[in-house]
Amino acid sequence: MPLRPLSQSVQSVIMMNENNHRGPYDLDLDKILIVDDLPLNRRLMMLMFHDTEFTISEAADGEEAIAKSQAELPFLVITDVQMPVMDGYGLCEAIKQSPKTANIAVIYVTAHHRSTEYLAKGLNLGGDDYIYRPFQREELLARTRAIARLKRAEVEAWRQAQVAERRNQDLTLLYQVGNALTSTLDTQQVLHKTTQLVQQFLGAEIASLWLLDESGQQLILTASSEEGSERLTGYTLPVDQGIAGHVARTGEPYFSADVEEDEKHHPTFDDASPYRPRSILCVPLRVAGRVTGVIQALHQQPQCFSISDLQLFESVTSSVSIAVENARLFEEVRIFNQQLERMVIERTRQLEQEKERTWGILANMADALVVIDHNQNILIANVVAEDLLNFRLADMIGRPIPPDFLDNTLWRSLDAMARSPEQRSSAAVDLPNPVRPEEILSIQSRSSKILGESGQRDTVVVLRDITALKEVERMKAQFMAGVTHELKTPLAVIRTHANNLTTYYRRLPDRKRKELIAAIEKQAHILERLVGEILDVARLDAGSTLQKQRLDVGQIVDQVITELRPLVEQKRLNLRWKKPPKPLFVSADLNRLERVVRNLVDNAIKYTPAGVIEVEVRTVLADGRPQIHLQVIDTGIGIPAEQLSRIFERFYRVDPAHTIPGAGLGLAIVKEIVEAHGGEIQVSSTPGKGSTFEVILPGIVT
Ligand code: ADP
Repeated sequence: MPLRPLSQSVQSVIMMNENNHRGPYDLDLDKILIVDDLPLNRRLMMLMFHDTEFTISEAADGEEAIAKSQAELPFLVITDVQMPVMDGYGLCEAIKQSPKTANIAVIYVTAHHRSTEYLAKGLNLGGDDYIYRPFQREELLARTRAIARLKRAEVEAWRQAQVAERRNQDLTLLYQVGNALTSTLDTQQVLHKTTQLVQQFLGAEIASLWLLDESGQQLILTASSEEGSERLTGYTLPVDQGIAGHVARTGEPYFSADVEEDEKHHPTFDDASPYRPRSILCVPLRVAGRVTGVIQALHQQPQCFSISDLQLFESVTSSVSIAVENARLFEEVRIFNQQLERMVIERTRQLEQEKERTWGILANMADALVVIDHNQNILIANVVAEDLLNFRLADMIGRPIPPDFLDNTLWRSLDAMARSPEQRSSAAVDLPNPVRPEEILSIQSRSSKILGESGQRDTVVVLRDITALKEVERMKAQFMAGVTHELKTPLAVIRTHANNLTTYYRRLPDRKRKELIAAIEKQAHILERLVGEILDVARLDAGSTLQKQRLDVGQIVDQVITELRPLVEQKRLNLRWKKPPKPLFVSADLNRLERVVRNLVDNAIKYTPAGVIEVEVRTVLADGRPQIHLQVIDTGIGIPAEQLSRIFERFYRVDPAHTIPGAGLGLAIVKEIVEAHGGEIQVSSTPGKGSTFEVILPGIVT
């Protein structure tokens, strides 16, 4: 039987039908019904009750007596035994048979039936006493009052039993509802159980629970005792409609034992609905005085619920209201918790990612990083720091710097920084390279304090290997000294010779003049070379693009050798140029390629005091591709093996005494140009015997 929605508006129809239900002891304790077929006897009896606490009603025969006892419910019927149609015993039997009148006491009045047999018959039929005619008023009143006392006691006992039973029922229901409500915090389950219990206890067909939405304008059907009612949950009802709406709006309970009898009742259910409840109970749910919803019980039969059911119903609602509210709050907390949990997981994930990223950055940074806490405990160190400080973090994490570590200058510096109260500090330390102890490393350390996890200040130390930087500084200083020296010497010579020429021109013999001019020319050449090299370096640094073209390497070597021939002759060297029989092409920048050849041949001349210089160009096939090999071989002073790796560095010179002029840039320029053309340069040398420089460039297939 589906629950039909309430549809039409209801006025304030709180109907408390006090008379809808009668118990077996709803007797009028003042009323007596006198039954006798003889009017005189009745009259006599009435006179006897005159001026007493009792009110008297009379009946002339059994039929009338039954009707009156049904209608008036006297506590006592005093009946004549001998009557036509229905005698007193028949009347007593009829009264005792009807549940409504079964508790009415019966006194027989008789003049004849005095034997034990009649006495027993009358009492066995449920009668309470006999009065034998003739009798005195005192006797009648005494017997009547005795019965009245008995009935009062019975009624009282019955009422108390009723109250006890009701209380018992109330407690049972409350206990069961309480149990149901505390057994789970799942709102749906709580509400479902509640409706089931209410339906069961009230003997209702349907019990339903409606909760007000947040606006307070709609009731939402939240649970119903009906089988398969889930599909109906969520159904909404505006608060200005139906009995449930009325109760939610006014906060007043509604009770009707029979809505069809109830004049004030307005149609509350859909006219089209086959479900037409006649018994309705509806009670508001309250939390802190505020109506939060209603519980409703329905039955199609009238007189299914009583006022005491309403009271019982109300007593349940307070615990239901709290349970509903608790469940709702619990649900809110649960959802909030879930959200919180999700947020925490997400945040933790982000933090972990962040941490990993940060750690990745720290681990991969070129500088060493160490974090030490306020107790000198080592917290973090990246791989560079482990290598530089010669320890493993895994062995030391969370432990203080061991005293023997402090023999190392770098650890001492870290220890001092961790102890220092300064927010920032820096220091420079020189120490032997832990990998190659013969090398000296220059380490710059910088510290800064950060707020650690313990709330104390941790010290972050970044160690930077500035050895190379220092070396560059050193080389630059050396270069400046070299360049200055290189510039000064030719300039001084030029100035002196020029001065001599101008001052003594006429006096100087022609030969001497030529000598001076030649010397000036030579110095100018040295200056030119130096300036050219400095310009080349500047150009290479500026990253100027190559103007590539197809060039015959042989032809370029030819030109350079022709250009440098005077120097070779000056030194009386033997230069053998093995010019290839056919052109060997490369794709290269003309000026740069000339510079490569010139620097290499020039060096060979410079660093060969006497002997042979050989220049050769040839093609070699590597993986089917032509390579142009240019070799410059000399029999000069050679280069010590340990210097070979450094001669291509800028400003690096093997000759510290500077006996041969030069700035240490030539080979660095050569290497950079060759590599820019996709080639490489190799050197082999034996000190005192000579050197071989070989440039390999990608050739062009002809
Ligand atoms: P520079 O010749 O101006 O000093 P380079 O860069 O051309 O500079 O050469 C670097 C160093 O390499 C030279 O100082 C020299 O000591 C060494 N070197 C270069 N070429 C030769 C060579 N052919 N024989 C011996 N040493 C050489």
